[in-house]
Amino acid sequence: VTYKVSVGAVALEHQRGVFVCFEDVTAFEQVGQMRRDFVANVSHELRTPLTALIGFIETLKGPAKNDETARARFLDIMDDESKRMNRLVGDLLSLSRVEAQERVRPTEVMYPADLIRTAAHSLNALAKKAGVQLETDLPEETVSMVGDRDQLRQVLNNLAENAIKYSGAGSTVTLALTGPKYEPRLRAQAVRLSVLDTGQGIEPHHVPRLTERFYRVDSHRSREMGGTGLGLAIVKHIINRHRGRLKVASVRGQGSCFTVILPVA
Ligand code: ADP
Repeated sequence: VTYKVSVGAVALEHQRGVFVCFEDVTAFEQVGQMRRDFVANVSHELRTPLTALIGFIETLKGPAKNDETARARFLDIMDDESKRMNRLVGDLLSLSRVEAQERVRPTEVMYPADLIRTAAHSLNALAKKAGVQLETDLPEETVSMVGDRDQLRQVLNNLAENAIKYSGAGSTVTLALTGPKYEPRLRAQAVRLSVLDTGQGIEPHHVPRLTERFYRVDSHRSREMGGTGLGLAIVKHIINRHRGRLKVASVRGQGSCFTVILPVA
């Protein structure tokens, strides 16, 4: 706990005195610390690809000037690193946009089954390339809800891309929709959008921290897969805006299930 202590003198008619004021500034300090950590993390994440780019440019201008093979290889690496920076800046912008909108209630009437169909369609190529089977499981009846279509599309994309990336060849990823049904914790009728995978799963102690910015279970693997470490932080803010919640169930070695529970109205 951090206190701010102020001391002063007071004069009231015939009386004089001093006052000592203790102000609990713990929350304020924590926000300041979080901001400083975030800036340090962003700088570190940007510096890594930037250092690689500077190094390769210098090598290409100097020692590898006339080496055709090295040139092609270095250009490929530079291509990867600059794309990584671009993704990071894109995710940082998304994060700041969703944070700014968090208090604005969404008003669009939309159909979550359409979102799943669109996500499955657009992720088909990625899944194929990764050797992952992508399936959908949708209810017969039409389900509608109030939400922000673009943001919820981003939620599904981030979750499904993770499932495909981290599960690996031979696994199955299912995008499912159920409900609406009464959710006691939200005290509302809600739908459930689930992304299930049969991949490596996540150790239980990591689960509560997954939506923290830049938190990764395996940093090396995340970077190798082109991750920015911001995907689930963005997901969390969008779900908060929709007054919903994210439930993560995972068994190491068997797979994970990320369920987004969203009130329909
Ligand atoms: P990243 O850009 O690293 O993927 P995210 O915020 O999207 O960042 O995810 C945070 C971390 O959670 C990932 O680095 C990964 O370790 C873990 N993770 C997310 N989804 C899954 C999944 N379906 N299976 C296993 N691990 C996952």
